[in-house]
Amino acid sequence: MIALAKAPPFTTGLTPWAGTLPDHISPTAAKSYLGCSLQFYFERVACIRKRTPKALHLGKAIHAALQAFHLARWRGGDDSPETIAAAYEKSFTDLERDEGPVNWDDADEREKSRLDGLRVVAGYLDSPEAMTEKPRAVEVLLKEDIAGLSVPLTGAMDLVQGDYTPVDFKSASAKPDRDHAIFDHEIQLVSYQLLLESIGETPPSLDLVFLVKTKTPQIVRVKSPPANEHRKQRVIALLETAVEGIANNRFHPQPGMKCSWCQFRNECAAWLPAAYQERRAA
Ligand code: SF4
Repeated sequence: MIALAKAPPFTTGLTPWAGTLPDHISPTAAKSYLGCSLQFYFERVACIRKRTPKALHLGKAIHAALQAFHLARWRGGDDSPETIAAAYEKSFTDLERDEGPVNWDDADEREKSRLDGLRVVAGYLDSPEAMTEKPRAVEVLLKEDIAGLSVPLTGAMDLVQGDYTPVDFKSASAKPDRDHAIFDHEIQLVSYQLLLESIGETPPSLDLVFLVKTKTPQIVRVKSPPANEHRKQRVIALLETAVEGIANNRFHPQPGMKCSWCQFRNECAAWLPAAYQERRAA
């Protein structure tokens, strides 16, 4: 548990967070904060809008199609390939209108991306990974208190299988390496386990299903065994580190590989800590 500092030990020169604990923490927010706290600030605190990255747009449209399929399986509705393809097309267009514009280079690139997505969705429906049974839950949002966390943990699971295995779907451009995928998505996978355990369930596995956008789409399931106590405590500590940093207004550049595709490089280059700005003004 954290104690909020009365005066933050590190000030940033940015309009501060309210100086209180966030309402909750999600694995996505924590991973984003830990990846680069300043990018997190620009996206989620200052809410600076940028053109939607193409991969993000396509991933959301594919996700909507899979959601339509799983909901149809759950409700016993129409899960035909034609209906799911229509759900994909609708989402692809609606997202451009509601969350766009998307940073397409030109109309040809948009069309290629649209067709890539259609192929990947069809590849999933044809694959052995496509859900044949009735899921336990689809798009389930849980919010639970977890020992060691100052705020509730939230998580939105794409799918929970009948045996309580949570499944998260990822769009990818290349086939994933199993160990790297589990390590990279550890906060999310273990958070889902913590949430399910807090409602009295024991997932037998923590699964990722990658939809790989190769010419012939590949659908790859990566299974992680449930986390032991060490893994759980490590993830709780990472989540709490993000909560503490957000609550104390610790937002600063963390240069690394992700700067190559960061959309906030201009804003980042203008950043200076408040202490420096105050010294210069004195
Ligand atoms: S350019 Fe790099 S250091 Fe700066 S905000 Fe983006 S990811 Fe962070």
